[in-house]
Amino acid sequence: MKPVNFDYARPAEISSAVALLADDTRTVKLMAGSQSLGPMLNMRLVQPDLIVDITGIAALRSVREESDVIIVGACVTHADFEDRRVPDFTRGAMPSVARGIAYRAVRNRGTIGGSITHADPSADWISILSALGGKVTLQGPQGSRTLAVEDYMLGALEADLRHGEMLVSVTVPKLGSRARWGYYKSCRKTGEFAHAIGAFLVDPERNVSRAVIGATESRPFVVPDARHLIGDGVAEKLSDCFDREAVAKMIEDRGMSDEIDRRSHVVALRRAIEQAESS
Ligand SMILES: Cc1cc2nc3c(=O)[nH]c(=O)nc-3n(C[C@H](O)[C@H](O)[C@H](O)COP(=O)(O)OP(=O)(O)OC[C@H]3O[C@@H](n4cnc5c(N)ncnc54)[C@H](O)[C@@H]3O)c2cc1C
Repeated sequence: MKPVNFDYARPAEISSAVALLADDTRTVKLMAGSQSLGPMLNMRLVQPDLIVDITGIAALRSVREESDVIIVGACVTHADFEDRRVPDFTRGAMPSVARGIAYRAVRNRGTIGGSITHADPSADWISILSALGGKVTLQGPQGSRTLAVEDYMLGALEADLRHGEMLVSVTVPKLGSRARWGYYKSCRKTGEFAHAIGAFLVDPERNVSRAVIGATESRPFVVPDARHLIGDGVAEKLSDCFDREAVAKMIEDRGMSDEIDRRSHVVALRRAIEQAESS
């Protein structure tokens, strides 16, 4: 199939894109890397009157470093992370996860903002950023607001975007020098969307220990203080302290009813923790 006819705009400023989005008289859709939107257009799952291509907005491709965070524009691509054009303060977590997304052609065009907003539960950025404590900043006609990545995702393919808003940047904390992380993606072939994701971070200097179960049917399950799952987080062998029963119960309590699914997710998190040990 082919997309319906649509008008096309390529603004150079965020304010122009927001003004176009606020137009009530027609259906407006933002386009970033088009790796998810393109197929949806072709299948006519979306039928916009106007496509606003945001890849020409320089501010959305910029990266800014502050004392304890790095702020990345929404249109920074997966390949920008993979190739380390974005300075890494996550002890390799972001470049490593980027490298596991799809294949190079997708990574060249796909953007961090498009991926998070598309809100596919199996996608990678949403899970690793939830583990790292990432935040998104949205801009709209009423100004801007910032929220945790995991709160931005309301459910499968649903982001917390109000009328006229767009995602402008992603803020990622700088990890301490003794931070350890792990990310395990269960899929049949390298680069595929995951069936189960485990993500884990322990950062003693910042007193942070977070665990994430991703590739659920909806939002990731975030454990903001994962110490009770791995002891105090300073043991040399964290996986020896891993409480699989507690994780399985937590997953079941949050609605994952299928036992095989639960086991895959428990194993994914355990492997993420094992990876953290060797990092
Ligand atoms: C073959 C294939 C395999 C893939 N495998 C993986 C994988 O293993 N892991 C993974 O994580 N992903 C995977 N993806 C998805 C890929 O990462 C996409 O890049 C991503 O899902 C969408 O990013 P995009 O920049 O292309 O966004 P687009 O397709 O342009 O947009 C996606 C949606 O987000 C909206 N949008 C985009 N940018 C913004 C913004 N700044 N503000 C508000 N709304 C916005 C659009 O309107 C649209 O609704 C795969 C894709 C393909 C085609």
